[in-house]
Amino acid sequence: MTLTRLPRLREKLRAKGLDALLVTSLPNVRYLTGFTGSNAMVVVLPRTVYFLTDQRYRQQSKEQVRGVRRIISRTTLFEALSEHRLLRRGRVGFEAKHLSYASHRLLRRLLPGVDLRPVHECVEDIALRKDDAEIALLSMAIRVTEQVFGRVLSLLRPGVRELEIAAEITYLHRRLGAEGDAFEPIVASGERGALPHARPSRRKMRNGDLVTLDFGCTVAGYCSDLTRTVAIGRASRRAREVYRAVLTAQTEALAAARPGMLAGDLDHVARSRLKRAGFGRYFSHSLGHGIGLRIHERPRVAPRGRERLEVGSVVTIEPGVYLPGELGVRIEDDLVLTDDGCRVLTSAPKELMVL
Ligand code: ZN
Ligand code: ZN
Repeated sequence: MTLTRLPRLREKLRAKGLDALLVTSLPNVRYLTGFTGSNAMVVVLPRTVYFLTDQRYRQQSKEQVRGVRRIISRTTLFEALSEHRLLRRGRVGFEAKHLSYASHRLLRRLLPGVDLRPVHECVEDIALRKDDAEIALLSMAIRVTEQVFGRVLSLLRPGVRELEIAAEITYLHRRLGAEGDAFEPIVASGERGALPHARPSRRKMRNGDLVTLDFGCTVAGYCSDLTRTVAIGRASRRAREVYRAVLTAQTEALAAARPGMLAGDLDHVARSRLKRAGFGRYFSHSLGHGIGLRIHERPRVAPRGRERLEVGSVVTIEPGVYLPGELGVRIEDDLVLTDDGCRVLTSAPKELMVL
């Protein structure tokens, strides 16, 4: 599956005038080779691809990585690059976002004949468009997360702590077939809901609280990302008003999403709707983001986002309104862009639930 991605990558390298690319970001290594371990790098040359890892992954890499030359190193991977003389001269791209300053200095010392060039988003450009197998994995992750949502609903009641619910989410993700959480679950109740990225606390839920649950898991590395806001016991008029505004903005953005559109224009659909409802200044983050092997990837669906949405990209749509000291509402779905618009992959109900 993964080897079909190489020709597209090589095309990119040629266009950038590079003789080779050094891939050090683990999600990118995984994307290109299927390897899931914690220490590896890939060297893409015009005719050969080298995969480097250490002794711990001898067996695992043999099973996972096919069709490339494997090097099992006894030293650090950078030293192995130099010992095996994989890169001796020419223009070699490195992933500017994923290589530390210290590693860059080390590379310069170990590869004296090489002209190291920073490369931005080379593998990421190719990963923007998901193939059918990737969409199937993203959908599996979403299904697990939605099952977890269904089960967690029955646990939400006055007196339960946010941390207890977060623990259940983590447990259920694994219990229902995921590898684990894609990120630390957010469970934000009452006035804590006004913190868009609240960490679950010991706060106990109370009658009349809105509770925002934002969580996701990974299946074969692919991430789901779902947010729902529910009410405990009862929902005040104010809570209903805010919820209605967020849901309307979210629904309109889903209806508007289509390929070719500027990401910033999609953000504008939801943002302008919330502005008209009087909540514009309380929507304090961007509308959405791509998901894939990373929980946050391109395209960024943000104000003035200049990237055009592409068929096959999977993005979240997640407007929110946060009233400091009072409450918060966020609703998030995941969608894939199709030739004639988009297909929403998430299906958890969105009418305000009062539990
Ligand atoms: Zn989320
Ligand atoms: Zn998200």
